[in-house]
Amino acid sequence: MPHLELGLPAAALDADRTRPELTDSDLQTVAAQLGRPPRGLVAVAARCVCGAPLVVVTKPLLEDGTPFPTVFYLTQPAAISAVGRLESTGLMARFNADLAEDQGLREAYLEAHRDYLAQRAQLGSPPQLDGVSAGGMPRRVKCLHVLVAHSLARGPGVNPLGDLVLAALVPDWRPDQCQCEHYEPPVKAAPGPANGRRQDSAEQPAAAGPRPEVSTGGDRPAERVV
Ligand SMILES: [Zn+2]
Repeated sequence: MPHLELGLPAAALDADRTRPELTDSDLQTVAAQLGRPPRGLVAVAARCVCGAPLVVVTKPLLEDGTPFPTVFYLTQPAAISAVGRLESTGLMARFNADLAEDQGLREAYLEAHRDYLAQRAQLGSPPQLDGVSAGGMPRRVKCLHVLVAHSLARGPGVNPLGDLVLAALVPDWRPDQCQCEHYEPPVKAAPGPANGRRQDSAEQPAAAGPRPEVSTGGDRPAERVV
């Protein structure tokens, strides 16, 4: 099995028992960032320059059996908000138009999709997620957060649209400048959709996995680290 080329030791993903890059402090920070205790975290794939988690790696199958397609999940609130503002400018529609017109971009985006699947396969991807990546890949763009998280986790040149999003975020947000808050631990778990943001990784009904709160028959994959 090839080693993951994440921004952390491959050993971090070898087994649940080995988490040199996922400390208790990281878990507390991610819980504060998300507003609830995270589940299924395996590692931190990208960090802010201050050291706080920026992108986390989540198991493709949560403890309760829920398939979770979004391997790389953006957790820093400032980044999430900045990407959300970009989404509101219509950038996804432009990317989709670009994909329709540009064969080279389509091919590069397909490679990004394959990379995503290959990364997840190393974490033990369940059959429900066969061929399903996230964010709309490989044919569409449905969530810029997913693409940015992929680019931050894997570095430039892997996800062409994630790279373009990172460029478009400047000067609003950039990975070499800390915009972290003082993360307060969540007072208590906040289940359900109370958290206003989403990182939609659904693309098609065939991609279906249940939502965290639904045991079977959901019409789209789980959207959140819960
Ligand atoms: Zn920071």
